[in-house]
Amino acid sequence: MKKALITGIAGQDGSFLAEFLLSKNYEVIGLAKKEFTTSENIENIQDKIKIINGDVADFDSVLKTVKDIKPDEIYNLAAQSFVADSWNNPSITAQCNALGPVNILESIKRESPNTKFFQASTCEIFGKPKDSPQTEETAIHPITPYGIAKLYAHLMVETYRKNYGVFASCGILFNHESERRGKQFVTRKISNSVASIKLGLLDHIELGNLNSQRDWGYAPDYVKGMYLMLQQEKSDDFILATGKPVKVRDFCNIAFLSAGIELEWEGSGLEEKGIDKKTGKTLVKVNPKFFRPTESNIYVGNPQKAETQLNWKREVSFEQMVEKMVQHDLELLKK
Ligand code: GDP
Repeated sequence: MKKALITGIAGQDGSFLAEFLLSKNYEVIGLAKKEFTTSENIENIQDKIKIINGDVADFDSVLKTVKDIKPDEIYNLAAQSFVADSWNNPSITAQCNALGPVNILESIKRESPNTKFFQASTCEIFGKPKDSPQTEETAIHPITPYGIAKLYAHLMVETYRKNYGVFASCGILFNHESERRGKQFVTRKISNSVASIKLGLLDHIELGNLNSQRDWGYAPDYVKGMYLMLQQEKSDDFILATGKPVKVRDFCNIAFLSAGIELEWEGSGLEEKGIDKKTGKTLVKVNPKFFRPTESNIYVGNPQKAETQLNWKREVSFEQMVEKMVQHDLELLKK
């Protein structure tokens, strides 16, 4: 039986990956901060996994965990994952997102050199990319504290691979969402608000940049890609993406449609509004509070390398994902 250690096991990706690895007969051990060990994401697998309290930012606890367990595979999914928050908490972001992975790599090198390592890297390392879609060869130049911290980790993975022979792969993950996405992210904020509006619990939703676009995939498809990366002969970096960019405004259209509401748009800039075609009621407004100091709004990834070399396949389309999220939030709120 293979042993996997998942950091950030209580998060969206960690919990989906834990379920997936359990289905592959793995022994699954999670590293999670105390406050996350009772997360509802892992409620249904609580008795099948082991949880160790710890923090990737704390080298001693990481070293001890790796030494004691000597896992076959480590998936590093612990992160300060909200880009907008990285402006308010740049140092926590760096400790967790930049130094955390280095703590794991160094622990592997010292105590468990046969352990294979997966690092959740990100499209944010590209900043304002010149190529579209982005590939594994696209020039890297992050422009957010989140992306800069993740780039440090990305390059350290390459360094440990080249200099110490550690099997370490980066998944350059484009945005991936699900019913388990935190409500601070725009997709879940929209699905949750649409459900609340539909049930008469909310009047309207306020969003930031409606023209921002992201390449949004479905998280359970992405954790399978992570697993595939560690089943290869050699470690390498792979983009996981859909190749299809969608604007925030269009995400709204599809989410509202999933709840039977057709939107039409009026005005522009801060005055733009999404209006219920049937009733004329304003359901979406723009609020500058949700704009970012700087960001890229042209992320779109080319997943060809993962598709051909890993045989990675996505099973859930964008529209199916939005539908799932809205239906899930409707069910949750009805309860
Ligand atoms: P990110 O790509 O990891 O930063 O994921 P988010 O879901 O936080 O943001 C995705 C995009 O949606 C970004 O370009 C945001 O600027 C944009 N956006 C527009 N309105 C909002 C909002 O109200 N909340 C968030 N989180 N993002 C918004």
